[in-house]
Amino acid sequence: MIRVWRCQEKSPRYCTLALCFPDRAFCCRAVQAVDVYGPPATILAMPADTVEKLRNSIRDVSDFPKPGIVFKDITPVLRDGALFRNAIDLFLERCRTLTLDKIVCIDARGFLFGSAVAYELGVGLILIRKKGKLPYKTESASYTLEYGEAEMEMHIDSVEPGERLVLIDDLLATGGTSASAMTLINKVGGLLVEAQFLIELDFLRGREKLEPTPVISFLRY
Ligand code: AMP
Repeated sequence: MIRVWRCQEKSPRYCTLALCFPDRAFCCRAVQAVDVYGPPATILAMPADTVEKLRNSIRDVSDFPKPGIVFKDITPVLRDGALFRNAIDLFLERCRTLTLDKIVCIDARGFLFGSAVAYELGVGLILIRKKGKLPYKTESASYTLEYGEAEMEMHIDSVEPGERLVLIDDLLATGGTSASAMTLINKVGGLLVEAQFLIELDFLRGREKLEPTPVISFLRY
């Protein structure tokens, strides 16, 4: 049985759902913010307290890499085997609801999650890397970061025309990096089905740069 459990105060577009099984042996409460106007809702099987534990493990580092930036440090998640697995499972559960051909991930922290997800799904992995790191012929796209300017590249032969791709990165801030990834995907003929992030900094409104691509993030600040 699926029932609406509680509406989030901040946005009437999002509801928190509870998933209940009558058999007590399998009784669990799975909670996720679901965009009721978006694509068909997915309910994560991960308990809310696990997601909260992940959130509490992300460390804020002030004034890194430059004054005024609060850096979301995911290394406390990575160094804990259970939490690292939980973080990967968030992406994995979501990807299992989609029809996709390959995972695209962004240099460098996106690789940590993207490669694990691609391995588990048995699909190919495409790397979007900072300028000068990819050895073969590339397409490139420049963009503005929360803390600087940069250029991203992708191999021109990464994708077969029309392949369905899911983009994975650790964090969505201003959206510049992901928007450049979206540009690259379009340039090489791929179809970006969804962009997924472990963390989203809502106040920077990065998801607007990715419209109309659906954006899923698991921990929003
Ligand atoms: P943006 O292009 O502004 O959305 O920035 C996203 C990319 O930069 C991601 O690949 C993040 O790893 C990194 N990033 C940007 N801002 C932060 C932040 N405050 N904390 C951690 N990583 C960040």
